[in-house]
Amino acid sequence: MLHPIRRARQSTERTPLTRLQKIATLLALVFVTLVSVQSSAQSAVPIVLVKADRLLDPRTGNVLTPAFVLIEGDKVKQVGSSSQIGIPVGAKTIDLGGATLLPGLIDAHMHLFLDIIVPPEAEISRHWNGLFAPGLLLTIIESPTKRAFLGALMAREDLESGITTVRNLGHSGVDGDTELRDAINARRVPGPRILASARKLITRASYVQNLNPALSEAILQQEFLLIDGADRGRAAVRQNEFQNVDLIKVTADENLTVPELTAVIEEAHRQHLKVAVHAIETTSIQTAIDAGADSIEHGNDSTDEQLRQMPDKGIFLDLTPTSYGGFFLKIMEPSLALSAETRSSRISSGARRDKRYADFVQRVLKSGVKFAAGSDMCWFYPGKTRGQASTATLVNLRDAGMPALDVIRAITINAAEMLGWQDRIGSVERGKFADLVAVSGDPLADITELERVRFVMKDGKVVRNDLTKP
Ligand SMILES: [Zn+2]
Repeated sequence: MLHPIRRARQSTERTPLTRLQKIATLLALVFVTLVSVQSSAQSAVPIVLVKADRLLDPRTGNVLTPAFVLIEGDKVKQVGSSSQIGIPVGAKTIDLGGATLLPGLIDAHMHLFLDIIVPPEAEISRHWNGLFAPGLLLTIIESPTKRAFLGALMAREDLESGITTVRNLGHSGVDGDTELRDAINARRVPGPRILASARKLITRASYVQNLNPALSEAILQQEFLLIDGADRGRAAVRQNEFQNVDLIKVTADENLTVPELTAVIEEAHRQHLKVAVHAIETTSIQTAIDAGADSIEHGNDSTDEQLRQMPDKGIFLDLTPTSYGGFFLKIMEPSLALSAETRSSRISSGARRDKRYADFVQRVLKSGVKFAAGSDMCWFYPGKTRGQASTATLVNLRDAGMPALDVIRAITINAAEMLGWQDRIGSVERGKFADLVAVSGDPLADITELERVRFVMKDGKVVRNDLTKP
């Protein structure tokens, strides 16, 4: 076979272009250019009108009836009643009938690259942190490519359940969440907006112990950056900056000192990055407060005094009602044989934890601290997609005694403020991204409507629509 270049040259030699042919070619080029200019003018920014019986504004709690949302490209252009909206000719209308519109949901604390299968009791009892560590270790040592596909699947499932923005707080390997964020933004794969934190900053032995000494450093470095003194803390922040993170995630435990965390936070703030600090026990919560964290994740053992200190220092509390309502029994029972003893002890310890959490929610509501919420979902939930597992977890706050409107605020407007993205997301307002969800009923009367989102739009593009017949 002839080399293609050689063959092209031969054909040119054989039939040189006549002047007429040259003119014809030139005219054809001009025509193609004109047509493409015209078609790009025609495919200018798409305009979409979304109609529904109700739109809930989480900021005020007001419900607009009926509601019209005019969307231009990826942004909301106008919101109002039909008389207030100037509907341009050629706007595409999506009529959602009797549905209730809300802003796209925000899961402010979650883990897209982790799907831990709860091990049997015997396995749990043989490991330190036995519920979590075996699954985590298996994930770390397996192929990062395998993990990337998991993250992409979870991201799509979250989006399909109405979660249009997530904050991924660690457990994505070295660069899983930053790369997935970029792939979604480039429209290579579907998914929510991601605020990525890359590797979690921890003190040694926070999550795993008893590793093979010959391999321990290599294993840890795949998932974490160790803080061992203030300088190493600053260096860890810089390593994540190199990964182009949106924020820094730190786990505070009794081993982390205030000077170490302060150094991390100073370095992050110098780069305009917020710092989310995992803190559950009273001592680590105080470390996070004293060092000036931007948000305290979990915060379960906060004292009333600490809940007062948080707003004084401009700290958000990010609630994670993950284990509320017998969560572990729900994920264990479908796949594990549980002894009668285990089952009854899980039920009674769960009931005690639930009561404690409900008390905590009441103290949070009384304290005036600003709060958002995250699912902290990192578990394999048999029978549910990741999106379904996450929304089911978030609405637990209602069962724990939080009014429905506050639950919705925690995963929309409040979460947007905690992320520092209040100008982009969290409400359906002019100039913000056109991220919308719709449910059939009234989410203020029945918060579980959020587990059955029927319409999802992100960036002005429909992701899901079970309400309108095609
Ligand atoms: Zn977490």
